[in-house]
Amino acid sequence: MTMRDPILLTPGPLTTTLQTKTAMLKDWGSWDADFNAVTADVCQRLTALIDGERDFVCVPLQGSGTFAVEAAVGTLLPRDGKLLVLVNGAYGKRLARLTEMMGRAVSVLDFGETAPVDPARVAAALAGDATISHVGVIYCETSTGILNPLAEIAGVVARAGRRLIIDAMSALGALPLSAQEIAFDAVIASSNKCLEGVPGMGFVLARRERLQQAMGNAHSLSLDLHDQWTYMQKTGQWRYTPPTHVVAALQAALDQYDAEGGRPARLARYQANCEALIQGLRELGLQPFLPAEIQAPIIITVHAPAVPAYRFGDLYQRVKDRGFVLYPGKLTEVETFRVGCIGAIGSAEIAQAVHAIGDALAELGAACGRPK
Ligand SMILES: *Cc1c(COP(=O)(O)O)cnc(C)c1O
Repeated sequence: MTMRDPILLTPGPLTTTLQTKTAMLKDWGSWDADFNAVTADVCQRLTALIDGERDFVCVPLQGSGTFAVEAAVGTLLPRDGKLLVLVNGAYGKRLARLTEMMGRAVSVLDFGETAPVDPARVAAALAGDATISHVGVIYCETSTGILNPLAEIAGVVARAGRRLIIDAMSALGALPLSAQEIAFDAVIASSNKCLEGVPGMGFVLARRERLQQAMGNAHSLSLDLHDQWTYMQKTGQWRYTPPTHVVAALQAALDQYDAEGGRPARLARYQANCEALIQGLRELGLQPFLPAEIQAPIIITVHAPAVPAYRFGDLYQRVKDRGFVLYPGKLTEVETFRVGCIGAIGSAEIAQAVHAIGDALAELGAACGRPK
C-alpha cells in the first residue's frame, strides 16, 4: 500500500495535477455569465490548438470521447454520404460500428493491428469507389499506440476531393496537427487525454462552413453538434446541463499547458517518458510490441512477461499495491499489457513505475517457483 493515490499509467482518465483537481472545488450556475466566459475561453483556446481560429469552431459536448465521435459523424456525414473508415485497432473498429449503427453507409479498409495506415491503399480505395464522401481516421490508435501518417493520409483524401474526419483523441495537444498544414473537416478529442483535464467532455473542432451546412443531418437530438453550436452561439450556454466542474478543470489544465510551453513542451515530456519507459522495460526483459518507427509517444504496448501461468490481474494488483495503475492489452491475438506515457507525470514517476513493475515481476516469478 502507498500513502498517495495511485499514479495512472493509463491513456485517460490519467493523473492530473493538484491545480487541475482543485479547480473543481467550485459550483457554477450553467446560466451564469461567469461560467459562459469559462466555456468561451476554453473553446477559443481549443480552436487555437489546431491553428483553426479563422475557419474552425469548437463545439464541446457532454460525455466521454466516443460521444463526440458519434456526434461528429452523425452531424457532419450527410444522410446520403458514405464514410470510409481506416482501421488498425479497436478505435477504428468503433468508429465504423457507430457509423453503421446510425444507418449511414460505411466501408472499411483494414490494416490489421500491427501496421500503420498505408496512404497508397487509401488512394486506391477512393479511386475505386466514387460514392465515398468522407474518410475517418484515428491519428494515434490507442489500442496499440500506433502512429498513423496523418499528413500523408490528409493529402491523399484532399487530392481525391473527399472530406476528412480525424479522431485525434489521444493525440491532440501533443502530436502536430495544424489546419494551416493539412486539410480536414473535423478533429475530435476530449478533456482527459493529452490536455490532462478530467473526464466528462469531448469536443469537435469543425470547419465552420461544413457545420453550417450540417443542419438536419443528425440522427440524435443530444448528439446534434449543429444544434449545440447554434444554441451556444445564441446564448453562450450549453444546450443541456454542462459538466461545469470538468470545464473549469480543463481551463486550469490549459493554463498549465501554456505555462509548460504548449505543444512542443508537452510532446517533449511525453517523448522522454516514452523513451525512459521502453528502455526501463527492456532492462526488465520486457519487449515492446511495436517497432520504434511507428510508436507514438502516448501509450506503449508490451508483450506479456515470460512468467509461467502469467495473468495480467496478478501483475496489475502487485503494481497497484506499489502505487501505479497499468492498463490491460487490447489485442485479439497476442497477450500484452499497456503502459501510458501521458498525464501529469515525468521522469521521476516513470523511473518509480519501472521499478514497481520490476519488483512485481520478481514477486510473480518467485510465486511460481522461479529463482529470483
Ligand atoms: C480515448 C479514445 C476515444 C474515446 O474513448 P472514450 O472511452 O469514449 O473516452 C476515442 N478514440 C481514441 C483514439 C481514443 O484514444
